[in-house]
Amino acid sequence: LFITIEGGEGAGKTTLITRLTERIYTETRRKTSRTREPGGVPIAESIRNVILDKKNTKMDPKTEALLYAAARRQHLAEIVMPALARGEIMICDRFVDSSLAYQGHARGLGIDEVWEINRFATEDCMPDLTLYLDIDPAVGMSRIAANLHREVNRLDLESLAFHQLVREGYAEVAKRFPDRIHTLDADKSPVELAETAWAIVEKRLQT
Ligand code: C5P
Ligand code: MG
Repeated sequence: LFITIEGGEGAGKTTLITRLTERIYTETRRKTSRTREPGGVPIAESIRNVILDKKNTKMDPKTEALLYAAARRQHLAEIVMPALARGEIMICDRFVDSSLAYQGHARGLGIDEVWEINRFATEDCMPDLTLYLDIDPAVGMSRIAANLHREVNRLDLESLAFHQLVREGYAEVAKRFPDRIHTLDADKSPVELAETAWAIVEKRLQT
């Protein structure tokens, strides 16, 4: 079972994944692992550093989209595909929908165009289930600002308007994949969110 968690900055993806991974394992006793994108394996982490480096202000949007797709490919081939083949449960922090929302919609490359390069990268290995944490970007950004330990990356220099576009993009993507993507109100408490997320996963495990 392949589960992905999506959302803008400060939505609470990392917190939810920690709780959900625990919960799934305690309930099912199946091997459950978490991973993240971009990154997850050394080659993809190196690509992540290039993408997020504050010095890389000249990065072309298409370059950015291709780098994300390249990092995704490596991470899928090295980690996700083998784990799924062994019948394990994989929970991934971000996946294709991030590229569709950020590069496709917010950067204006087009959701269909970004989907095309990602089909090449993923060979249609898609999540069984996606939980999208929907948050007002102003709230998300203030949560991040409160987190003093977080290192500032290139994307943090983007405006609130950019993050509004990302949210719009996610809404559009969620409309395109209504069976796969579940939208959760990320204003809820971490406990409530984890409860809702588990209920959705449990239902999916029963089908
Ligand atoms: O998931 P995390 O917040 O660590 O992502 C790192 C950064 O990459 C974020 O600032 C996010 O906005 C950005 N990102 C992006 N396009 C993607 C995926 C992530 O701009 N497709
Ligand atoms: Mg995070």
